[in-house]
Amino acid sequence: MSAVFERIAIIGAGLIGGSIARGAMEKGAAGAVSIFDMDAASLKRAGEIGLGDVRATIADAVRDADAVFLCVPVGAMGQTGRDSAAAMKAGAILTDVGSVKGSVAKELHAAAKPGVHIIPGHPIAGTEKSGPDAGFGALFEGRWCIITPDGGGDAEYRAATDRLAAFWEKLGSKVERMDAQRHDLVLAVTSHLPHLIAYNIVATAYDMESVTEGEVVKFSAAGFRDFTRIAASDPTMWRDVFLNNKEAVLEVLGRFDDDLTALRKAIRNSDGKTLFDVFTHARGIRRSIIDAGQDTAAPNFGRDIDEKK
Ligand code: NAP
Repeated sequence: MSAVFERIAIIGAGLIGGSIARGAMEKGAAGAVSIFDMDAASLKRAGEIGLGDVRATIADAVRDADAVFLCVPVGAMGQTGRDSAAAMKAGAILTDVGSVKGSVAKELHAAAKPGVHIIPGHPIAGTEKSGPDAGFGALFEGRWCIITPDGGGDAEYRAATDRLAAFWEKLGSKVERMDAQRHDLVLAVTSHLPHLIAYNIVATAYDMESVTEGEVVKFSAAGFRDFTRIAASDPTMWRDVFLNNKEAVLEVLGRFDDDLTALRKAIRNSDGKTLFDVFTHARGIRRSIIDAGQDTAAPNFGRDIDEKK
């Protein structure tokens, strides 16, 4: 079967960029990969581990590419988008993998030049690791990839959107088309708020650490350990997510505050029925996530217990 794109360019040789590069070559979704990272050490490493043809500038990386994937933190999408669009060939696709879509789509559309198709995207897959060595080709298998194409595009634009969808499907993803604002609200609930809570719980526990003299770490139970894993995610990436999805996160945070206040009240009033009902409902939601194939029912969520592996 032929490749979807003859050559793709990856800007940002980290976890997601490295995984796209590996997946594209392993699964035959691209004939060749050009790669650029502003960090000289990361770029050198990307070359050493064979992620693609190392290019010294963004312009060099994108010039002969049929699709350009911006895999940098959300705050760097605007600049890398402008630098890419300026050097891309007509008919090529400019896309990204950012965890926020409204602000990124706006910046990419502003960077657009005639003949370059802007199709923002977000693969809902990742780990808490970062850097060129963190990527692996199977990362996107069975995971959703949301793309947020411009609703009113012409036939050429629609064909480009279908090609991008075909690329992600070849990497093993299930593709969903969505409005950028809708994406940002959904992800604020399912990803952004959980990360904020994890960062906050770990910060609270760290403060408690001085009170309990090491016991938080020593007796850290599975629940807390899961939060620390989430809170180990890249600080630059998550800072940019919250700065760029303010509105949706603040809306969801308001609702979360209300629900937390209700739980606090139930505990204070020894209202066991309310606590039991909320926990039972939550357990049902967990069941539906497993039934939808979004997680495993295996103990420890099917993860290898040895962190070093
Ligand atoms: P990462 O492993 O830290 O990789 C990002 C790479 O981009 C780093 O090597 C970084 O270099 C480089 N970079 C930063 N600014 C750049 C610029 N202006 N030009 C060129 N390279 C630049 O991060 P990641 O986890 O792959 O995340 C990349 C994007 O994917 C983010 O937008 C994130 O929202 C999105 N995403 C992440 C996940 C996840 O779970 N991690 C999931 C889905 C989507 P430095 O190290 O020097 O900064």
